[in-house]
Amino acid sequence: MDFTLELKNVFFKYSGISGSDKNVLENVSLKLSKSECIAILGPSGSGKTTLIQHFTGLLKPVSGHVYFNGRDIWTKKFPFKELRRKIGLVFQFPESQLFEETVFKDIAYGPQKLGFTDSEIQNRARNAMQAVGLDFDFFSHRSPFKLSEGEKRRVAIAGILAMNPGMVVFDEPTAGLDPGGIRRFEEIVNKLLNYGTSVVLITHNMDFVALIAQRVILMVKGRILFDGRPIDLFNNSELMKVSGLEVPGVISFLKNLKKPLPETINRSGGLDELLKRVKKINHDLLE
Ligand code: ADP
Ligand code: MG
Repeated sequence: MDFTLELKNVFFKYSGISGSDKNVLENVSLKLSKSECIAILGPSGSGKTTLIQHFTGLLKPVSGHVYFNGRDIWTKKFPFKELRRKIGLVFQFPESQLFEETVFKDIAYGPQKLGFTDSEIQNRARNAMQAVGLDFDFFSHRSPFKLSEGEKRRVAIAGILAMNPGMVVFDEPTAGLDPGGIRRFEEIVNKLLNYGTSVVLITHNMDFVALIAQRVILMVKGRILFDGRPIDLFNNSELMKVSGLEVPGVISFLKNLKKPLPETINRSGGLDELLKRVKKINHDLLE
């Protein structure tokens, strides 16, 4: 990720018939500048989907600012095209937006719009399909509508990846997926991270957060109540309670062991330490 995105004191409310007078985002500030995996947590209706739509200028703050590389995106002549190429948004149930007659055409749609050559488009489609685990030769000429739900979702994700974004934002990507689908999604995220792409995901899947997120942002009623390391949130029982979150199974399992966790888990190494420990426990149990 070779850019920074910053929200400063953003307030937002929906106007019009469907809107109401209450703020949906209230004084939200956050900065995204590192290639890492960030989970956005919070109850339904807390403003998560509204928040990510501010990242690419799909929604405009009522007050406050959104900066892309230090430049306010709501100033004149701001290059939205460039911003939207850098940040890919994958909305909930993205498969509902598939429309072309073949998988290839659907994935190629974005790069085609950007005016790339045929060979570049072909390359991008191949790479994107590889990243989501779809075999190019097997899938590219098939109709997206005849695939399984999980495959459809991967086609939709590939369409975003084919734009080569520096950051991909997923809105509840594992909703409705079976455990296999969730595992495959985890692989996609790992590939993106290895590639240096930043990943932001809105999710309710706490085990997934424990396994994969390096930073969590907790939203409740339009406000950011926590922004930091997952383990520090899990250990904050008051915040967890207030926001109705459950401690991930793997964490409570470790906490309930007779031997207490070494303090270091909470101080440094976080996830690595945790995984090593889980592996060791598994090993011990199997022996
Ligand atoms: P989340 O993604 O955390 O579930 P949302 O951002 O979707 O939360 O919604 C936050 C609040 O804004 C909710 O009260 C919701 O009803 C309201 N809201 C969301 N979208 C719209 C819309 N298009 N028009 C009016 N109100 C909306
Ligand atoms: Mg939402």
